[in-house]
Amino acid sequence: MIEFEIRPSANPTLDAEREAILKNPAFGQVFTDHMITIRWSQDKGWYDARLEPYGPFTLDPATSVFHYAQEFFEGLKAYRQDNGAIAVFRPDANAARFNSSARRMAMPELPEDTFIRALELLVTQDRDWVPQGEGNSLYLRPFMIATQRGLGVNHPSTEYLFCVIASPAGPYFASGVKPVTVWLSQEYTRAAPGGTGAVKCGGNYAAAFNAQQQAVDEGCDQVVWLDAAEHRWVEEMGGMNLFFVYRDDTLVTPALTGTLLPGITRDSLLRLAPDLGITVVEGRVSIDQWQSDCAAGKLTEVFACGTAAVITPVGSVKGADTAWEIGDGTSGPVTLRLREELTGIQYGHRPDPFAWVHKVC
Ligand SMILES: *Cc1c(COP(=O)(O)O)cnc(C)c1O
Repeated sequence: MIEFEIRPSANPTLDAEREAILKNPAFGQVFTDHMITIRWSQDKGWYDARLEPYGPFTLDPATSVFHYAQEFFEGLKAYRQDNGAIAVFRPDANAARFNSSARRMAMPELPEDTFIRALELLVTQDRDWVPQGEGNSLYLRPFMIATQRGLGVNHPSTEYLFCVIASPAGPYFASGVKPVTVWLSQEYTRAAPGGTGAVKCGGNYAAAFNAQQQAVDEGCDQVVWLDAAEHRWVEEMGGMNLFFVYRDDTLVTPALTGTLLPGITRDSLLRLAPDLGITVVEGRVSIDQWQSDCAAGKLTEVFACGTAAVITPVGSVKGADTAWEIGDGTSGPVTLRLREELTGIQYGHRPDPFAWVHKVC
């Protein structure tokens, strides 16, 4: 494995200042004292791996990422566990997804052990930045950008930069597990077959802000994306996958068709739920069925899931000419139970039957 050069910061954040920040961490606003960088070039492969002080990059205005958006990212968390240890949740799954994104974006893969080592080094160095308390964590953001200078578009970049930054995080939605309202986006499309819907690339987000703004203008919290061809089949939310809970203890989630992001939280719930006596189905849900199953009382809960917000109940749905409530609009028992199980594993107060918890220090 590549050797990392360790360059600790000469003036890290003062203890008192850091502790004040950790008392009330927002999401993605403050960053720790260090970062990881590794460079790649066509000639050398991966080189110059470092843990170094957090700070800005200097990039030429003609750097290709600024023009053609050849970049993607990952997101995972380090948790301070009940016994004081710090653990990262399923970093091997993020390493694998990182490389599947790299392939789709014509970018170099990073060996999985180097990806995990990078996280371990950063979390260990900045361990005092991992906040205490349930709901709090250190959010880790690995990403890769194309750094070749020049405006040619006939080939992918010949140089890349891999970086990991870290940010102490409180609960993602300030309202906690209060149900969110969702907007069915029938005007815009997030992903089409053959596109980049299954890749965690910034371009997907860039193209989604418009619809998110529309959702807010319509009095909703989040967008639900539908399939590009018929605008009828539910895919996911902007940064979270969706689950439908049926009265007979069946959980349905849209199958991975290539146009939605293969969430690691989604995968964890699909594996966890059967052990709790819940049947899981990866299938298709249309908006008409969603509405009629709610009206018939068969579909009792809907929730969204992702690393940042864990599990968030969906209380009501709105579209251009339709609106309905899910159950009584409050958080349902299956949603809350799954949330409790998953966070229990992450914070180390539940057994870890799938060996998902990767102790770092
Ligand atoms: C990151 C992301 C998710 C959730 O993935 P997790 O691995 O569970 O965090 C879902 N949808 C989109 C579009 C995402 O970017």
